[in-house]
Amino acid sequence: MKSYNFCAGPATLPFEVYQEASQAVIDYNQSGLSILEISHRSDDFIQILEDSKNRVLQLMQLDANLYSVLFLQGGATMEFYRLSQNFLFPAYKAAYINTGVWSQKAIDAAKFSGSVIEIASSKNENYRYIPSDFDIYESYNYLHITSNNTIYGTQYQSFPDVDVPIVADMSSDIFSRSIDYSQFAMIYAGVQKNLSPAGMSLIVIEKQFLDRFSNILPPIIDYKQHIKNESMLNTPPVFPIYVSNLTMQWIQKQGGISKIEAKNNEKAKILYDEIDRNPLFFGHAEIKDRSKMNALFYLKNEEMSSIFEKLCQEASIKNLKGHRTSGGYRASMYNALDVEAVKILVEIMQSIEKYHG
Ligand code: PMP
Repeated sequence: MKSYNFCAGPATLPFEVYQEASQAVIDYNQSGLSILEISHRSDDFIQILEDSKNRVLQLMQLDANLYSVLFLQGGATMEFYRLSQNFLFPAYKAAYINTGVWSQKAIDAAKFSGSVIEIASSKNENYRYIPSDFDIYESYNYLHITSNNTIYGTQYQSFPDVDVPIVADMSSDIFSRSIDYSQFAMIYAGVQKNLSPAGMSLIVIEKQFLDRFSNILPPIIDYKQHIKNESMLNTPPVFPIYVSNLTMQWIQKQGGISKIEAKNNEKAKILYDEIDRNPLFFGHAEIKDRSKMNALFYLKNEEMSSIFEKLCQEASIKNLKGHRTSGGYRASMYNALDVEAVKILVEIMQSIEKYHG
């Protein structure tokens, strides 16, 4: 029976990607070798890497002369620290907007490198909104934001219009909507939601921004060294890079990000309409800041949770539980999740209203 996986990450990827990747695990490109055993110095892999970087820039509509692309081990958490060492160390200041657990972790990691000014936070309201009221000064090296808050289900609908470079953690909404990527000095993402298996971060850095800094750092922390070594300062995560490439090809075959965005809008509308309509449920995020990727919602009557969860289980809905810090239910609706999955979830919400409400 088909499962509908609403997991926040690692998350569902397109079925076509699973098919092609599984074939490549047996035999990559009729080379007689598995993708898992090819050398990262082989022509086959260099081609995958180059093609993947190009596809990232194509999807983001960025110029290769202006931006560099990296695929590095360590996930987004590694970048929390690494970016601060590159752009904040040793004694600079940077502004951070705190919109959830992941922003908080980015803040905590950056404090090891320099002075972190939390210019706005929605913590006082359990992160149910995106703060828009703050002061920011040109003396800050950058402004850090989390474009989509995976746990609390909020998302920037538009980005701050500021005079300092913006660094954005897009782990949970990368390639999910058409945005102007050139407004960012750096974009990074753990790849395990919209791109590939876990184990890697995708990083895109504006060259001019990076050139401003001349910190002496251990090579593994230094973006300039990683760029110079073409993401191969150590053995790169070959399989996640390969699968990211397949997923980017899939996005392009779907008609590009705008088509993916239309599907994401449709899924989010179906679910939020039901959350708002159904008297048994309520949503967490303020309507204006709602995430199209992760919807956090609750049952008004906790006693109904066992019947709701039983119905979900019977319909093969997986991983709907909210994060341990928020409780409730979280439907993660990343690019590869079919509209059908959301419709099935909504049918269950309607059926418990009808028979048990
Ligand atoms: N940022 C956001 C917005 C996330 O959702 C996550 C993971 N869920 C992270 C950062 C951390 O990513 P990683 O596990 O790749 O370090």
